[in-house]
Amino acid sequence: MTELPYSYEAPVSQTLFDRAAAVTPGGVNSPVRAFRAVGGTPRFMVSGAGPYLTDADGREYVDLVCSWGPMILGHSHPEVTAAVQAAVARGTSFGTPGEGEVALAEEIVARVGPVEQVRLVSSGTEATMSAIRLARGFTGRAKVIKFAGCYHGHVDALLAAAGSGVATFGLPDTPGVTGAQAGETVVLPYNDLEAVREAFAAHAGEIACVITEASPGNMGVVPPLPGFNAGLKQLCADNGALYISDEVMTGFRVSKAGWYGLDGVEPDLMTFGKVMGGGFPAAAFGGRADIMARLAPAGPVYQAGTLSGNPVATAAGVAQLRLLDDAAYEKVDAASARLRALVTEALAKEGVAHRVQAAGNMFSVFFTTDEVTNYEKARAQEAFRFTAFFHSMLSQGVYLPPSAFESWFVSTAHDERALERVAVALPGAARAAAEAAE
Ligand code: PLP
Repeated sequence: MTELPYSYEAPVSQTLFDRAAAVTPGGVNSPVRAFRAVGGTPRFMVSGAGPYLTDADGREYVDLVCSWGPMILGHSHPEVTAAVQAAVARGTSFGTPGEGEVALAEEIVARVGPVEQVRLVSSGTEATMSAIRLARGFTGRAKVIKFAGCYHGHVDALLAAAGSGVATFGLPDTPGVTGAQAGETVVLPYNDLEAVREAFAAHAGEIACVITEASPGNMGVVPPLPGFNAGLKQLCADNGALYISDEVMTGFRVSKAGWYGLDGVEPDLMTFGKVMGGGFPAAAFGGRADIMARLAPAGPVYQAGTLSGNPVATAAGVAQLRLLDDAAYEKVDAASARLRALVTEALAKEGVAHRVQAAGNMFSVFFTTDEVTNYEKARAQEAFRFTAFFHSMLSQGVYLPPSAFESWFVSTAHDERALERVAVALPGAARAAAEAAE
């Protein structure tokens, strides 16, 4: 194992990144992995055990990303690994129904009250795309309300996030999404019920659904203000639209029943991913039985998938969910609370303006003093301080999300030893953040 602090250079990762860049756009299969927001060489990981990752240069990191949420039991959990190995030995894909997918659906339905029926897919993007299609098919309406700063995967219609802080029709965020696709999306500022009320009035009878992250974690962690989700639900009910709660990130992470388990607001449809797949590509959407009954082959709204309900992915998901009892969530919550306290203490000591915002055990650090309640406020932070903070932590063996606008994640495996390593790294990183210049 290389000695701490690690060099900012990572020669083996760099060689792999160069190879990757020759055959893959930008060298990565998902943009945030390329470290563009923070600079430097993305670390190519070769193994994970509990709260630790090891990279191709032989360096070990305390992992505070947890694969962007899924690894809530830590890496290579023995029981999940055994379930996966047993499933692989039985065969990896049949293209027929199988018991594993029934078991995973039953786990989800048993945990999340509003989900009476669920359909399995392979990614969170598929889940939100299908939920939107179903909402449109069910209501016979076209328009969708989403919130600036909320990410729902790379669904064409949902890549409109104008983010100007005013109620507006979405402009495509990316080439390849047509004005027609984005034009059916109304993008509103997060946590602003009045804007939602006005949008319903302006587009009376046209709104199929409101989709929102149950508690956003994709602009940093920005929880709903008290009453916001309940207000959305009410406005949807009053206007004949569906309320879709995207729990791809929060689902089975912040409680047994996800964010719904914390706020109790009952969505019409919900989307899931990440934790429910145990580190494999499995995701889902579900909700009211009368709405789900519109889905093929029960109903006319088409949706399908060659690898949907894959036996290996469902075995991993079932094994992981069954291990996630009250004691597991207490552990994750405690690790998160301790980390938040350590971060606050280190940054305060260096006089760095910051806010640690949490939603259950998810949290992120904003380099600003103002409460962050929407995307505009999130973007007003001093993100350059995060870059210095991030690289200092990385060189001391702590792997943070490589962006100031992402949630940090912990697991049941983040024990005292792992947290102590973070505690040792924080003072230097806080100093680096204090000294950072734009
Ligand atoms: N919805 C939310 C809230 C997410 O955080 C994400 C991914 O981070 C998605 C949807 C898309 O999921 P996937 O990356 O599996 O397509």
